[in-house]
Amino acid sequence: MDTILVVNAGSSSLKFEVFSVGDSLARLVKGQMGGIGTAPHLTIRSPSGERLANGDYPPEAVPDLPSAMHVVGEWLRQRQQGRLIAVGHRVVHGGPKHSRPARIDDDLLRDLERYTPLAPLHQPNNLAPIRVLQERQPELAQVACFDTSFHRGHDPMTDHYAIPAHYFDEGVRRYGFHGLSYEYVAARLAEIAPGIGSGRVIIAHLGSGASMCALYGGRSVESTLGFTALDGLPMGTRCGQIDPGVLLYLLQQHGMTAAQLQDLLYKESGLKGLSGVSNDVRDLLASDSLGATLALDHFVHRIGLNAGALAAAVGGLDAFVFTAGVGENSPVMRARISSKLAWLGASLDAGRNDAGDLLISSDDSKVAIYVVPTDEELMIARHTVALISS
Ligand code: ADP
Repeated sequence: MDTILVVNAGSSSLKFEVFSVGDSLARLVKGQMGGIGTAPHLTIRSPSGERLANGDYPPEAVPDLPSAMHVVGEWLRQRQQGRLIAVGHRVVHGGPKHSRPARIDDDLLRDLERYTPLAPLHQPNNLAPIRVLQERQPELAQVACFDTSFHRGHDPMTDHYAIPAHYFDEGVRRYGFHGLSYEYVAARLAEIAPGIGSGRVIIAHLGSGASMCALYGGRSVESTLGFTALDGLPMGTRCGQIDPGVLLYLLQQHGMTAAQLQDLLYKESGLKGLSGVSNDVRDLLASDSLGATLALDHFVHRIGLNAGALAAAVGGLDAFVFTAGVGENSPVMRARISSKLAWLGASLDAGRNDAGDLLISSDDSKVAIYVVPTDEELMIARHTVALISS
C-alpha cells in the first residue's frame, strides 16, 4: 500500500494526516503534536475516532517543529504500514507566481523563503518541516500546496491597492488565503449542485481564521483577505479590515513598535479584543456579557457588509455556502448571518438549519444556502498525488 503524508505546521502545533493511495484516497490516521516548546502533547486517531496515541512529552524533548516532525515521523515509521511515496505540505504563501501546487526543490524553497516577511507568523513554520525532511530523506517527494494559489486567476486590477503602482511590482498586492478550503468546497458544490456551483457563489470560511470568497464558474473572483491574513472579516484574534489611519495613530500617538503592533493586530484583536472574553464563538454565545454581544453583533454585521461587496463582484448571488468551525457547527450563527442576506433573496429553513442539513435554505429561497464541511488535508493529498503522478 502506498501512502501520502499531509503536514500542516503552525507556530505551536504540527497537524498531520496519512492517506492510502489507491483507486481513491482513504484517510488512515489523523494527528496533532500540540503545545510544542511548552507542553508537548501527541494525539493520533483513526478515521473512526479510535485513539491510537495520546501522550505528553517534556518540553525539552519537543522544543520546536523539527523535533516534533522527528517524533511524529518515528511514530509513523513504527506503527504505520505502507510505503510513504510523498509528503504534501500546506504553505500559506505562494507569492504572485504560484497558481498551483509545486514539487519542492532547493530553488522553490529559496523562493518561498522570500515570502516570510509577508506571512511572518505562518510561512517559517510551514517551511520548517520541509527542510527537516529534505535533510533526512532527500529522496522523498515533497509538494507545497499554497493557500494563495486559488486566487491567482483574479483580474489583476482587483489585486491592486491604490498606492503608487511600483509597490504592486514589489509584491504589495492582494493575495487572498484559505484557498485550499475554497477549492475543496467549490469542488464539492460542483458535485452536489452542478448548476448552482457554476454560478455566482459566496463561500464563507468561518473558523478561528475567517474570510469569504466570491466565485464565478467555480473560480475565485474576489476574496476578503488581501496582502496578509489580517484583512476582511474580524477573526478569533485578528482585527480584519481596519483604517490604516488607526495604525498611524497607534504608531505616532502611542509610540508602538512594529512588533507591538503586530502582536495587537494578530493576537489581541478580533473577537477576543472586542469581547474581552474569548476568541471562541462558543464561549461568546454562552456569555451574556456586553462585550460578547458586541463581538458577535460586529462579526455578523461585517459578514453581511462583505457579502454585499462580494455579491457586487459577481453581479448577484445564486448560492451562499457556510464552512469551517463556526459555519459547520453553529445553527445560531448561520441563522444570524443568513438574516443579513435576506435583501439578496436568501431565506433559511429553520428546521433544515437546526438539523445541519447540506441544503438549509427554504424551497422558495432565491439564493441556495449550503453547509459544506471543508477538508483542506484531502485537497492537499489530492494535489500531491496528482503532481507526483504527472
Ligand atoms: P481553524 O481556523 O483553527 O482551522 P476551525 O475551522 O476548526 O479553526 O474553527 C474553530 C472555531 O470554530 C472555534 O474557535 C470556534 O469559535 C468555532 N466553533 C467550533 N464549534 C462551534 C460551535 N458548535 N458553535 C460555534 N462556534 C464553533
